Amino acid sequence: MNRTTVPYDPACAPPAPPDAGAAASEPHIAACRRAWQLLCDAGMPTLTDAPQLAADPALAAALQDAFNAGRLPGALIETEIRRALLDGPRDATLLATVLLAAVALDRFHGGRRAMLLAETCAVRARHDDARAVAGAVLRAHATLVLSRCAPLREAALLQAEACRLEAGRPDTVARNAVLWTGVRLLCGAPLAELLHYAEAVRQSVPFGNVSVATSQLDSRIAMFRALADGPRTPFVPTVPADAMQFGCWLGCLQATWLRGETGAARAALAAARQLVTPVTPPCELLTYHLFGALTLARLENVPGATAALRAHRRALQAWARRAPDVAGAMALLALAAERDAAGARASNPGALAACERAAAQAQAAGQAWIAALAWEGAAGVCVRHGLAGALPGYRKLALDAWRDWGAHGRVRDLMQAWDAPPGTLDHDQQTRAARAGTVGELGITIAHEVNQPLAAILLHAAAARRWLRRGQPDMTRALEALEQITACGRQAGDIVRSVRGLARREGEATSMFALDTAVAEVAQLLRALMVRQNVQLETRLLLPERQIHASRAQIQQVLINLLLNAIEALAGVSDRPRRIVLESVPAGPALVELRVRDNGPGIAPADRERIFDALYSTKPHGTGVGLSISRAIVEAHGGRIECTAAEPHGALFRVVLPVRSAAALKPSTESRDHA
Ligand code: ADP
Repeated sequence: MNRTTVPYDPACAPPAPPDAGAAASEPHIAACRRAWQLLCDAGMPTLTDAPQLAADPALAAALQDAFNAGRLPGALIETEIRRALLDGPRDATLLATVLLAAVALDRFHGGRRAMLLAETCAVRARHDDARAVAGAVLRAHATLVLSRCAPLREAALLQAEACRLEAGRPDTVARNAVLWTGVRLLCGAPLAELLHYAEAVRQSVPFGNVSVATSQLDSRIAMFRALADGPRTPFVPTVPADAMQFGCWLGCLQATWLRGETGAARAALAAARQLVTPVTPPCELLTYHLFGALTLARLENVPGATAALRAHRRALQAWARRAPDVAGAMALLALAAERDAAGARASNPGALAACERAAAQAQAAGQAWIAALAWEGAAGVCVRHGLAGALPGYRKLALDAWRDWGAHGRVRDLMQAWDAPPGTLDHDQQTRAARAGTVGELGITIAHEVNQPLAAILLHAAAARRWLRRGQPDMTRALEALEQITACGRQAGDIVRSVRGLARREGEATSMFALDTAVAEVAQLLRALMVRQNVQLETRLLLPERQIHASRAQIQQVLINLLLNAIEALAGVSDRPRRIVLESVPAGPALVELRVRDNGPGIAPADRERIFDALYSTKPHGTGVGLSISRAIVEAHGGRIECTAAEPHGALFRVVLPVRSAAALKPSTESRDHA
C-alpha cells in the first residue's frame, strides 16, 4: 500500500444526491449531514491528523449521533465500528470518519473534500500507533471511497490487499473473504483460485463459529463448489428471513438465479433491494445490478419489472462509463436482458447483438464467467425466437467459456438441461423451435457466428495495441491477446467449414406463405449487422397481400446470401453513404420479383456469369458457394436469378419467382401445404 494520494477525477463524481426532502426524512442521513457540516467547518481539506477531530466535543457528539441514528446505514456503520473495537483498536474515530466520508460522497456531493478526508484517515491509519485499526480503515477506504472515485479495478485490488491485511476475529476474517472473493470475481479470477481461498479462510475459522459473516462465506463456498463440481453438492443458501445483511441476500440471489429458481431469486432481489445503502461496497452493488437485471428479464407479466430492469441496466451503464474494464460487459449483458425481455418479435437480433458484444467485451477484459452468461443469454434468445441454426454455436461458446473459467459443474448442469428431450420444452418454446426452419441456417450461421469471433479479434487487437503502447510494454499480456486472436481465427475457420457442410443440406418442405413477411424477417435479422457495418437499409415491400408457394427457408436463405454479399461489397466504400435497397415487386400475374441493390463497387460485366459458379470467389476468405446455392434454389423453384449493374454504382440482383413454384429442391413428404 504505497499509495498516498488519490487523483480526484470530477468526471467520476458520484451520482447526484436524492432530493433534500427525501434525505431530511431519513434521520441517520440528517445526522450524518450534521456531522459532515461540522467536519467541513473544522477546516477540511487541510486536515492532517484525523484523530484530533475527536477532541472537539461537538464534533464527537455529532459523529456519535450520525452512527447511532436510524437503522441504516447507521446500523451498518455501528456494526463496523463495533467489529473494529472488538478487534482491538482503542479509537474508532478513523474508521468512523472514513465511513462518514463515504456517506458524504454518495449523498452530499462530498466530492473532493470527502476524498481527502478519507485519504487522510488512510494515511494516518498506517502510523504505528494505529496498527490495530489499520486493516479496517484501509478496507473501508478502498471499498467505499476509492472504488467510487478511482479506477474500479485498481481500487478493487487495493481493497483486496486491505482485506488480507486485516487480521481479527473470525467474523471479520469471514466477511473479508466474502468481499475479497467478490472483488476478485469481478476482476475475472479463475474459479479454482476463488474456491481455494474461500475454503482456506473457512478452515481457519474455529469449528462451530457461526455468524452472519461465516454463513455468507459458507453460501459463497457452496455456490463456487456447485459451479466447479456440479450437482453432486446440492445446496440451499440459508438466509434467515429477517437477515439484515445485503451480502446474504446477494449470495442467495446469485445462487438461485444460477439454478434457474426465478421465484426465489426474485424474493432475494426484493430483500437485497431494501438493504442497499450509501456504503454498500461497489463490488457487491455491481453483482446485485447484474443479477437483478437477469432475474427481472425472466419474469413475464410482472408489473414494474420492466422499469426495475431498466434501472439496473442504467446503474450498470453509469458504472461502465467510469470503469469500462470491470462493468462494461455487465452493462451490455443487462442491456441484452432488457432487449430480450422486450422482444416479442419473431427474431430479436438486437438482443443477440448485445449478447455478442457483452461476451466479446467480457472475454477481452478476462471475465470468462460474464462471457459465459452472455453466451447462455444468446442461446436463450435463440430458443425463444426459434433460431435453431445459431443455437448450437452459442451453446458451445457458453460451455467453452464456463470451462475456461473452471466451472465444470456448470458445464455438466447445462449439458444435462440442454439434452432434455423436446417434450420438456413448454408449448411456446416448441412452437418457436419449430419455426427454426423458417430462417436459413446458412445465413444465420454466417451472420452471427462468424461475426462473433471477428468482434473478439478486433477487441483483442485493440487490447494488444494498448499493452504494447504502454510506457513499459506488457509483452506477456500482448502475447496473450495475440494468442486469443489466433484462437478466434481458428474458430472462424471452423465455422466456415461447418457452413460448407450446411450448404450441402437437403431440400425443405414447401408451403404457402406471405412473401413480404418472410422478406421483412430476413431484413430484421440482419439489421444489427448492418448497423454495425454502417450500412443503411431501405426496404420497399410492395406485395403485402401476396402469398407464394415455395420453400420459405430456402427463399430466405437466398435473400440472406444476397444481403450478406451486398454488406461485404460495401465494406470498402468510404466516399459515399453505404446503402442497400431491398424490394419486392410484382412481375406479372403469376410472378414476383425480389431485388437487392447496393451502391458498392459492382461487378465487372465479364464476371457477372462466373459469380454463380460454385467455388468462384474474389474474397480472400470467401467460400464461393453462396451464389451457386442461391441459383440452384431459385431454379429448383422454377425461377431465375440474374445480376446487372446498378446506377450510378453497385450491383443489382433480381430474383424472379413463380407465385406457385415448381417444387422445392426435393419433394418432401412433410409438406405443410394444405392449400
Ligand atoms: P463468396 O461471398 O463466398 O465469395 P458468393 O458465391 O456468395 O461467394 O459470391 C461470389 C462472388 O461474387 C464474390 O466473391 C464477389 O466477388 C461477387 N459478388 C457477389 N455479390 C456481390 C456484390 N453485391 N457486389 C460485388 N460483388 C459481388
